[in-house]
Amino acid sequence: GSPSPHLNLSFKVLLIGDSAVGKSSLLHTFISASLHDLSPTIGVDFKIKQLTVGGKRLKLTIWDTAGQERFRSLTSSYYRGAQGIILVYDVTRRETFANLLDVWANEVELYLTDQDCVKMLVGNKVDRESERVVSREDGIALANKLGSLFFECSAKTRENVEKCFEELAIKIMEVP
Ligand code: GDP
Repeated sequence: GSPSPHLNLSFKVLLIGDSAVGKSSLLHTFISASLHDLSPTIGVDFKIKQLTVGGKRLKLTIWDTAGQERFRSLTSSYYRGAQGIILVYDVTRRETFANLLDVWANEVELYLTDQDCVKMLVGNKVDRESERVVSREDGIALANKLGSLFFECSAKTRENVEKCFEELAIKIMEVP
């Protein structure tokens, strides 16, 4: 018979943002069951996750900078062919929020070849509510500016983590 049109839905997704905002933790939480204290590693790392959304099976290859961002040395190969990009900040550190606009958004503009790439802004560590310095409203305003989706998450409590990746996958599938 004819091949199923749904078997080859495979997308490249990137995680970017300052060091220690929780990129590896979000990836780890999404891929597996619990948050471990991940020690920083050098070099680009990626994980593959299969999921079913809207009755369709798809595969996400999620790239993590794995510490390379500290050297501001992410190269075009990291960005090449990405269909989704997750820009992460830490709601308890204002500079990680500011750097998304001042540093990371510029780099995305520079390297991203696919204009249809779906962007997702993520404010992480919402479990540390008492230490929060970036409001939800600030996050929404930046998301509007960047033309991105927006979620607040906690890699620690798992709040919104799966939802965030799934929503990104749904929007990627909607790209014609
Ligand atoms: P990366 O450098 O952006 O990949 O950040 P990591 O994933 O290595 O996380 C940096 C630190 O923040 C680690 O000590 C994590 O355990 C911690 N962390 C990550 N996500 C959360 C979160 O949602 N809540 C809290 N409280 N800590 C987190």
